[in-house]
Amino acid sequence: MAAATGLLDADGSARPTIFAEMSALATRTGALNLGQGFPDVDGPATVARAAADAILHGHNQYPPGPGTAPLRAAIAAHQRTRYGIELDVDTQVLVTTGATEALAAAVLALTGSGDEVLMLEPSYDSYAAVVAMAGATRTTAPLRPTADGFRLDVAALERAVTPRTRLLLLNSPHNPTGAVLDRDELAAVARVAVAHDLLVVTDEVYEHLVFDVEHVPIATLPGMAERTLTISSSGKTFSFTGWKIGWVSGPAELVGAVRTVKQFLTYTSGAPFQPAVAHALTDPAALAWVDGLVRSLARRRDLLCAGLRDAGFDVVRPDGTYFVLADAAPLGAVDGAAFCRDLPGRAGVVAVPVSAFTRAGSPTHDALRTWVRFTFVKRQDVLEEAVDRLRAAFDPPVS
Ligand SMILES: *Cc1c(COP(=O)(O)O)cnc(C)c1O
Repeated sequence: MAAATGLLDADGSARPTIFAEMSALATRTGALNLGQGFPDVDGPATVARAAADAILHGHNQYPPGPGTAPLRAAIAAHQRTRYGIELDVDTQVLVTTGATEALAAAVLALTGSGDEVLMLEPSYDSYAAVVAMAGATRTTAPLRPTADGFRLDVAALERAVTPRTRLLLLNSPHNPTGAVLDRDELAAVARVAVAHDLLVVTDEVYEHLVFDVEHVPIATLPGMAERTLTISSSGKTFSFTGWKIGWVSGPAELVGAVRTVKQFLTYTSGAPFQPAVAHALTDPAALAWVDGLVRSLARRRDLLCAGLRDAGFDVVRPDGTYFVLADAAPLGAVDGAAFCRDLPGRAGVVAVPVSAFTRAGSPTHDALRTWVRFTFVKRQDVLEEAVDRLRAAFDPPVS
């Protein structure tokens, strides 16, 4: 059964992910890890203190299944003040164990055997896994590198819809490309969803981490609120990725379906972290801290992009998230995974191949075969050192 999902090898052994392999390589070689996307500086101290206080003040037993009332109210207030989305806190908001659980519970609740789930390619690695667990089939529409960043091929999205397509699984701002879907792209996605009566699940965990562009939740487009589940999380916004407080919101029937599945995945989690995240979402100082993070990430993005270009990579500047994709073909690479396995020894830096985010054998897999992902959510001195090492390793660039 598990082998059938492709999550295990045929003999039942666990298949290590490329992320685990690359992080182990970083530890073994002492290379700078720009592979895995987690911050090396924690979020606001006041928010950490709120969690510590919650532990000391008795928030240590199972919180309510849907999440604590103050956190659900804070999530609803966030959606209203930022995007004008009105939600009923009791029926339209559900707290989850990170965005990961929200995604899994949504896909398990809404799809099954015989259904197709249409997602962007490349895409975050858990999507393919949960679609397989649901017994559904993954289909994809490509994001392509352009002079204006990675952009959605809308015609290909339209062509990928079949009578079996049940769900569109969206992600913007997008990991791994850093693309932020603009209003035209979102309107085209919305048209496809309405025309084919598809449900939409949108992963917006990087909603705050955008640089000089606007993040538009697809749920705000005409005809979309009634068919869209919007997922987000505190991990990326507040630099507390280990707390795993996420949430999903949308129409009451859809949220109710997700709650039914969530009940038997974790039931509930994160008792002391829920009040701390409720505080973070409503505290002006914590939100100002996020603005500072975004400004600092924009500078770190520019530092890394310039350094990668100097080293000889082709780089597509991201508009959001804390990742940048770079093509190693100009450096002689023919395969991103092989390039990443060599990179720690060659340059003392770890990256992950984009093939970890594509479907083996797909046109996008082939098109992005030599591309690799770096994160810039590391301290400036770490990025400067990484850039120095890359320049030294590849200078003079192969021409
Ligand atoms: C990190 C990440 C997640 C997981 O979020 P958690 O809240 O840590 O579960 C989901 N989607 C994308 C695109 C991510 O990058």
